[in-house]
Amino acid sequence: MKTTATLCLALLTLSTAARAEWVERVEDGIMGTRITVELWAENRATGEAAIDAVIAEMNRIDEAMSTYKPTSELSLVNQRAAAEPVKIGTELFTLLTTALQYSRDTDGAFDITYASVGYLYDFRHHKRPDEASIKQALPAIDYHHVLLDPKTQTVRFSQQGVRIDLGGIGKGHAVDRGIAVLQGRGITRALVTAGGDSRIIGDRFGQPWVVGIRHPDRKDEVIARIPLEDAAFSTSGDYERYFDENGVRYHHIIDPHTGHSASKVRSATIIGPTATRTDGLSKTAFVLGPERALEIYNRLDDIDAILVTPDGRVLYTKGLEAPSN
Ligand code: ADP
Ligand code: MG
Repeated sequence: MKTTATLCLALLTLSTAARAEWVERVEDGIMGTRITVELWAENRATGEAAIDAVIAEMNRIDEAMSTYKPTSELSLVNQRAAAEPVKIGTELFTLLTTALQYSRDTDGAFDITYASVGYLYDFRHHKRPDEASIKQALPAIDYHHVLLDPKTQTVRFSQQGVRIDLGGIGKGHAVDRGIAVLQGRGITRALVTAGGDSRIIGDRFGQPWVVGIRHPDRKDEVIARIPLEDAAFSTSGDYERYFDENGVRYHHIIDPHTGHSASKVRSATIIGPTATRTDGLSKTAFVLGPERALEIYNRLDDIDAILVTPDGRVLYTKGLEAPSN
């Protein structure tokens, strides 16, 4: 009798420990931002291990692609590519290829060479370059300066002064890699977020995930709620990394044509198949303005967008119905 009782107790403990559940973690500091992973796992231990693997993957990407780390693969490119072709790994080569494609798709609004001027800003310390410095560095912004050779898998800059930065696409890429890591472990329901870039796989048991888009000035106010399954979404906003000076807002999205902050919208949310894509395309509206950006977004038929204009209007691409209230 005693054995049966013990066995029953053991089975009971086992079944509680092995209960499937939602597992969530929030982690700050990777890629200078907040990472959130939420997933449905067979049990807590499996879920935690999967999240560990996502965090490790994001740290790996940060090490390779951060311009804040002088030894990163990307920093080496910035140090040497104006002098000679630099051989790079497949992951970086593919991401640079994608970045140049986004530049072509957005009439040059997305441009990783923005950093040729962008590095002169320091939003945390309210530092911005004077007009003379911008003027001098500006000719180095042009994605055509980035020459990729698929045969040798090298990158070269066509002139001195060119710098690239993947801050406008890297978090999206990290989110996609995080999702790939989860899928490789058999996870079918999850949300991975890095800063403003997120991707969802699966649903919440017959219910979609509901994504809220915040008001540009009122942090806790939601201007639209969108139900999503198996989709990525990114929001860029002028309230993310900025300072105000004499009534002008200086923030982290740079117009490649002027070297100044691009302020033609207050926020842009893109919904699409991958976070790399939604991240890359969310900068366009700031640079080109809502009308031209909507034309481009409507033309790229695998994405949708929600834009908030400086005068408070909310604009949508064709694929989204405006909410009735
Ligand atoms: P987050 O960094 O929170 O993901 P965004 O997705 O809005 O924010 O990306 C803003 C970042 O994009 C900037 O911090 C900068 O690194 C980069 N960036 C700024 N301007 C451009 C541009 N014109 N083209 C490509 N990347 C840009
Ligand atoms: Mg982003």
